[in-house]
Amino acid sequence: MMNSIVLEERKDFILQKQEGCQGSSMRCDANSISGAVSQRACVYCGARVVLNPITDAFHIVHGPIGCASYTWDIRGSLSSGDDLYRNSFSTDLREKDVIFGGEKKLTAAIEEIAKKYHPKLIFVYATCIVGVIGDDVEAVCKSMSAKYKMRVIPVKSPGFSGNKSVGYKMACNAIMELMGPHRPEKKNGVNILGDFNLAGEVWIVKDYLKKIGIPVISTITGDSNYESLINAPAAQLNIVQCAGSSTYLATRMEEEMGIPYIKISFYGIEDTIDSLVRIAEAMKEEAARRKAVEFGEAEKAKLRNFLESYRKNLVGKKAAIYVGGGFKAISLIKQFHSLGMETVVVGTQTGKKEDYEVIESMVNENTVILDDANPAELETFIRDKGADILVGGVKERPLAYKLGIAFCDHNHERKHPLCGFEGVVNFTKEINLSLLSPVWKYIKQEVVV
Ligand code: SF4
Repeated sequence: MMNSIVLEERKDFILQKQEGCQGSSMRCDANSISGAVSQRACVYCGARVVLNPITDAFHIVHGPIGCASYTWDIRGSLSSGDDLYRNSFSTDLREKDVIFGGEKKLTAAIEEIAKKYHPKLIFVYATCIVGVIGDDVEAVCKSMSAKYKMRVIPVKSPGFSGNKSVGYKMACNAIMELMGPHRPEKKNGVNILGDFNLAGEVWIVKDYLKKIGIPVISTITGDSNYESLINAPAAQLNIVQCAGSSTYLATRMEEEMGIPYIKISFYGIEDTIDSLVRIAEAMKEEAARRKAVEFGEAEKAKLRNFLESYRKNLVGKKAAIYVGGGFKAISLIKQFHSLGMETVVVGTQTGKKEDYEVIESMVNENTVILDDANPAELETFIRDKGADILVGGVKERPLAYKLGIAFCDHNHERKHPLCGFEGVVNFTKEINLSLLSPVWKYIKQEVVV
């Protein structure tokens, strides 16, 4: 089945589902193949997207200005407090600094921020060039922390030092370092991990949990701040929404703080209800479990007529999915299925073996499953399989438009929530609007195959 566009070294990362489930023999969770032009971002970017939503933190990018501008205000994360996180600070390393070292410049940058803003928390990101010239970022952070009595935490994230997942790990290590000295008294409640409050999604999840009587201690990292983060070790349970970025943090918190975790997903009706029930069960709260079932069924009933009215437009359409993590891809397959749509191509940037096994068991025969795809592969399989819509992120949008098919942004930039029951309404309306747009028939005429 493998198209000639696929590099020999990439073939093991792509699977076309054959008769019966094979238990996913495809490769994943590995560094990108050199020259394959992965859709993944670099290590630094992976770290930045996890830490950026901390609303009162200062983010100093120790590197050339390009690294800072590349990730400036990278997420549509909303804040109920500070908006410092929407700035980007850079040491703006130049040729001279590369030759003589950038530590003095980094020290000056931290001192400037310390004197001007008196911050509680600064993250310093080491970028590619810092990894090459070998500045001792850790030592500078340590001495600045001591001098100004604030937390200055190094994030070891040279772009070339692995893949985006390594960046997630570095961000999780930085959060662990931040929480390290703090062991607050245990409280009844959960932490929400891997939700970045895109378009206010953390607030939706918090509201649901409040309705069923489960308190939230901390959110990591959407709409969080220094005080809320150092309080996170008080929680009884961690719930992990974005498994790709935050499972490592959850694992470390379990091992080092004794906080168990469960993976959940608030995308789609079924997964939202299932997640609320599982959270209540994990908290051993029978009353909350009953409330979760009642609340979920009531919301589901409210959506029945709405979904039926859109289903007639969508039934039989084919979808391609390319998102960051496996859990989101699984929820999207279910959402498309509930609308009468078939997923014909599905891939992720950082999916794990167990995610791909679930994906493979859910999709129809001949569906193409890809790990760490590149644009040429996506383009080829989207064409081959005749997908009508692509769901992806900022880097996939131009690809869909170039192919003349509909697109739904399920990543950083969107301005409306796609999680929970509200998200089902927004998602359905968006894919309906995009799929039915008259523009595609004009574009298709112009596409050169
Ligand atoms: S860290 Fe390296 S790969 Fe990442 S943006 Fe900067 S220069 Fe590019």
